[in-house]
Amino acid sequence: MLSVVIPAYNEEKLIVNTLERVSNVLSDANIAHEIIFVDDGSQDGTWETIKALSEANENVVGVHFSRNFGKEAAMFAGLEKAKGDAVAVMDCDLQHPPKKLPEMYELWQEGYEVVEGIKRDRGEESAAHRAGAGLFYKLMSRATGFDMSNASDFKLLDRKVVDTLNALPEKNVFFRALSYWAGFKTTTVHYSVADRESGESKWSKRKLIKYAVTNVVAFSSAPLSLITILGMITLIVSIVMTVIALVQKISGAALGGFTTVIILLLFIGSIIMICLGIIGIYIAKIYEEVKGRPKYIISEISGR
Ligand code: UDP
Ligand code: MG
Repeated sequence: MLSVVIPAYNEEKLIVNTLERVSNVLSDANIAHEIIFVDDGSQDGTWETIKALSEANENVVGVHFSRNFGKEAAMFAGLEKAKGDAVAVMDCDLQHPPKKLPEMYELWQEGYEVVEGIKRDRGEESAAHRAGAGLFYKLMSRATGFDMSNASDFKLLDRKVVDTLNALPEKNVFFRALSYWAGFKTTTVHYSVADRESGESKWSKRKLIKYAVTNVVAFSSAPLSLITILGMITLIVSIVMTVIALVQKISGAALGGFTTVIILLLFIGSIIMICLGIIGIYIAKIYEEVKGRPKYIISEISGR
């Protein structure tokens, strides 16, 4: 059986259509399936819709979070509840084309344990967004050792991989990279990102930046090494400045050195601030992990 995990946050208009499209595609391909909608604490009627569908249709399972925990948490809740021998994850807005599912399922039957959906194009984006995303994926690709520039959350995983991910103790999970990190026999499927069926993207700029920082920190300690590099640079600058200052002192041209003092103060001060900030981010993440709180809280399950 194939489980399809679909996280949904304020998607009341899309649920019915998405369910119909996905189950039609899978039924036409004769693939036994269950569809797990994870309602990520929506404020609209998303949960009522999911609940009604799961009561009417035995292939549908609904999971309801007590509040909004984010897409990562929703995907992991779905992986945990999935009963299938293979589990696919896709977006609710049909930007991940359901018609690719049978193709991914066939690859799984051929023996692949991870089928990665790779975006053919990134769609319309502003220049700042593109630059930010570029830097983020460069860091992530370096940390995981795989080209992640067109990676997405559209994937199909074997039961073995799902169990591996479910067993991870960490709270700051990044689904997109963890499937690469886990290894296993992997293949890719390319797809074009469709336009959102209705409504707007649920990711604000602030949410995206937080998402990028969390995931870089979860996967890479490169920002910590950056501190050492910054330290070296300041050291070199300070040595040069010291030499200049000494030469001026000896040649009797000292005084009037206030500019240097101010520049040095500002320079060193800002670098110390940056470094403390980076260390602070890591400490915050360590603190979160040590607290050991769950990734999400489920308040209701329907359909099973
Ligand atoms: N989503 C979620 N929790 C959130 C934000 C988004 O479960 O806090 C879901 C959303 O319902 C959708 C998927 O994640 O199924 C992708 O969201 P969206 O389409 O807004 O993101 P984009 O396609 O712009 O990356
Ligand atoms: Mg979308």
